[in-house]
Amino acid sequence: MRLILTTIAFILIASPGWAETESPDHAVIAPPSCSNNLGESVLFKERNSDNAKFAAGMARRDGDGNPVVNRFNFDQAPAPLQAFIDLHECAHHQTGDIDRPHPPRNSPEHLMNESIADCIAILRIRDDARYSEIDFADVATSLGEAMGTAGFPEISISSRVSNIRHCHTNYASAATFVDGVLTERGLK
Ligand SMILES: [Zn+2]
Repeated sequence: MRLILTTIAFILIASPGWAETESPDHAVIAPPSCSNNLGESVLFKERNSDNAKFAAGMARRDGDGNPVVNRFNFDQAPAPLQAFIDLHECAHHQTGDIDRPHPPRNSPEHLMNESIADCIAILRIRDDARYSEIDFADVATSLGEAMGTAGFPEISISSRVSNIRHCHTNYASAATFVDGVLTERGLK
């Protein structure tokens, strides 16, 4: 089993007051259903640490080769952001990113993979009944706040929010979008 290199897509400071309290700030939501482009079920695993500062997600294959999403410190993020991180990481499995060579960090190919994963995530939030309580604005606001707190420049935040707004407004279902990506990649 070859080692799959992965990136942490989100490094987010969700709560500036985290250091002043030991109790979690947010209830952790149930993970979504997720299978990869090969039809394998993706397992979501909690990975928390006592001095949690960040909510983050990581899509990878584990030591046994099973597709997983690690959820780091989700109690540090509000529900809309938890949902977005879950679905973004799932999208890396749905599109086959996990089993493809990992492009260099911040290369155009890498940024494209991230934009695609963001797009799939917001389409699932838009269309899936289990996320009916979550509006686009909830995601955009919590994502923007978290990125801002983590020190991302305004241009990074606005371009990311602009991408998901474009997807949310203009695109058909996540399933159709994923099909298009897989076809373009010769994975379907
Ligand atoms: Zn990502």
